[in-house]
Amino acid sequence: MESIGVLMACPMNSYLEQQLENRFKLFRFWTVPDKPSFLASHKDSIQAVVGNAFAGADAKLIEALPKLEIVASFSVGLDKIDLAKCTEKGIRVTNTPDVLTEDVADLAIGLMLAVLRKLCESDRFVRSGKWKSGQYVLTTKFTGKRVGIIGLGRIGMAIAKRAEAFSCPISYYSRTEKPEIKYKYYPSVVELAANCDILVVACALTTETHHIINREVIDALGRKGVLINIGRGPHVDEPELVSALVEHRLGGAGLDVFENEPEVPEELLGLDNVVLLPHVGSGTVETRQAMADLVIGNLEAHFLKKPLLTPVV
Ligand code: NAP
Repeated sequence: MESIGVLMACPMNSYLEQQLENRFKLFRFWTVPDKPSFLASHKDSIQAVVGNAFAGADAKLIEALPKLEIVASFSVGLDKIDLAKCTEKGIRVTNTPDVLTEDVADLAIGLMLAVLRKLCESDRFVRSGKWKSGQYVLTTKFTGKRVGIIGLGRIGMAIAKRAEAFSCPISYYSRTEKPEIKYKYYPSVVELAANCDILVVACALTTETHHIINREVIDALGRKGVLINIGRGPHVDEPELVSALVEHRLGGAGLDVFENEPEVPEELLGLDNVVLLPHVGSGTVETRQAMADLVIGNLEAHFLKKPLLTPVV
């Protein structure tokens, strides 16, 4: 397989890079200064692209690589891959489901606790020495809060299970009601938001779910409500979220993802009712290694003409 060209779209993980380097002819796209001439000179050798949540394979890249056979994503989300173009051209697509579910769900609960109990803010209180001048403010109880989940897939279900252990009543919104699931279903995001204390975004990013959190949803969640986003930044209309937080029309937010990563709206940096994370939902050593092994396993299976481990297309 050493002659098979694999294009890595952006830096992801050193273990993955090493494993790819050991098996294939690895090209690191981000190190290439003149991308159009690089693609023109390597178009006949690149047969695979490895993408992730930040860079994948859009129509332009796919068109530039006539020998492309497979796009293996180091992520479960597929929003950076032109799936229609891949299907049209018979290009296989894989992702990394399941192995990251628990970490992302853990982080969602961590964000809920961090926002309601002001964990980051109270840590700053201790570090700055302010404790010596008085007690920290009272915070908000998490146990028993009503949790609403948008997208009850693998991660959404794992969040629900965890929140249940905190005695939180669970409700959800997705395209269709799941009769086998005991949680309450709301047929619209606005209704879900109006009937929960904590609203969690855990759905896939598609054209339908772009800005699924808009002003109407934020207003329905209300001045005591908390938004948790562990999905993708573009799920949220960010200027609307910022103005709701600044104007105290929304209680707080825990955000792992942003519309223009790594840019974060300046206004959020000074707010004490938000917790901001640098897109680290699956970012543990154990999980990133499992994701890397899946990417490698899918590529090897494809080029050995065996069934893919986690096929999407
Ligand atoms: P999944 O099992 O495929 O679940 C996706 C859910 O999205 C499904 O339940 C689906 O529900 C729902 N959905 C799709 N289109 C929808 C729509 N138009 N309206 C409402 N719901 C819709 O995927 P997963 O493994 O749980 O991952 C979910 C997402 O989490 C990924 O796509 C990714 O963007 C994000 N993620 C983020 C991180 C991070 O680091 N923060 C890490 C991993 C994943 P129905 O089919 O029933 O509508």
